Amino acid sequence: MIREIRDNILYFDGCNTVELAQKYGTPLYVYSETDLRGRFAELRQGFIEKYPRTRVAYAAKAFFPLAMAKLVKEENMCVDVVSGGELYTAIKAGLPAEQIEFNGNNKSRTELEMAVEYGIGRIIVDGLDELSIIEEVCKEKGKTAKVLLRVTPGVKSSSHDYIVTGKKDSKFGIPLDDEVILPQVKAAIDSSVIDFYGIHFHVGSQLFDNDSHLQALDIILKLADKIRENFQYELKEINLGGGFGVTYVAEERKSFSYFIDPMMERIEAYYQEKGVERPNVVIEPGRSIAAEAGITLYTIGTQKDIKGIRKYVSVDGGMTDNIRPALYQAEYTGVIANKADAPKEQVVTVCGKCCESGDILIDNLSIALPERGDVLAVFSTGAYGYTMASNYNKNLIPGVVFVREGKDRLVVKPQTFEDLLRNEME
Ligand SMILES: *Cc1c(COP(=O)(O)O)cnc(C)c1O
Repeated sequence: MIREIRDNILYFDGCNTVELAQKYGTPLYVYSETDLRGRFAELRQGFIEKYPRTRVAYAAKAFFPLAMAKLVKEENMCVDVVSGGELYTAIKAGLPAEQIEFNGNNKSRTELEMAVEYGIGRIIVDGLDELSIIEEVCKEKGKTAKVLLRVTPGVKSSSHDYIVTGKKDSKFGIPLDDEVILPQVKAAIDSSVIDFYGIHFHVGSQLFDNDSHLQALDIILKLADKIRENFQYELKEINLGGGFGVTYVAEERKSFSYFIDPMMERIEAYYQEKGVERPNVVIEPGRSIAAEAGITLYTIGTQKDIKGIRKYVSVDGGMTDNIRPALYQAEYTGVIANKADAPKEQVVTVCGKCCESGDILIDNLSIALPERGDVLAVFSTGAYGYTMASNYNKNLIPGVVFVREGKDRLVVKPQTFEDLLRNEME
């Protein structure tokens, strides 16, 4: 078990979380390396080794300090980046350029120049003028680029509106209207500097039902028909995106196979029927790799009991280290790490220390009697927490510790006040 209780104390991947809080200070992000690597192992077994010519491109935006980039490299996975900064991190970590794929709806010319210069694995084109900019850049540099086109399949997945990306009204992807998508495909096929690989979609995030992935896939296979009919061209690759849900509070995470197997069956059946070789298949999981592998440790401070209404329990972090509750009503649960076995006799609202009433981390958390100085551990904070952290109120961004079978190592130092002023001039 990654999370276990010994002598009333929460242990995470063999490490005493109360001692971690003392050693490194709070707030603190703690990641289980065993868990992170276990996810990649599950994908290796259930996807990469099960189906030939498949790849996993971990979505860096979920969590991507250098140490994570190195772990991705060690696990021999690909990475999906969405900015020059993530690309730079991947390169600095020593990830081979061909294992890097670049998504994003508004890549700058400079970012595209970086991508072409490094010779990264794939550029996933997500704009009507992006293809021509890539062509220009390639010609200038005397290079070529391997390209997929990201389309909006027009399916509506059941998740929060802010993380639904596959519906037609979206800033992501190229609309599937024939007069829009087919000329883009033709331009990519005809280009002398662009190597056109295929089609990409990403339907949304935190999904528990494979239905929207399957609907989107059917739409993409119809597009494959059209591309064959119009241009006598077979797709070399289909990218199915990410979006596989994780456990935060109530809903149980589904295995990767639950999403992957039905999609692979459908793809293989389709290509068998056509009598042509199946294209490569790529997935881009982010949250489902990082979320459950991470917890956040806080120290409890002030409490405010509003009789008949609620009890606020404040912690020394908040929306600056985890914006998700304020941004999209994300729900979390947790436990007092130094009272992990004590009866949960109180229902409280855990709030942060930022100057926003919306800075609530957990509504209605049942916990043991909280006291100033207790360590609160919040679970499943590993994805979109550290990467979305901010310096609002000039709060410091916490450090990151990796733990593995009882050993801990600091992989991101906690910010200091000096760090805050580093770029500021008088
Ligand atoms: C965000 C994103 C992902 C990862 O999504 P998760 O829900 O974290 O798995 C994958 N692909 C693209 C294009 C994305 O934008």
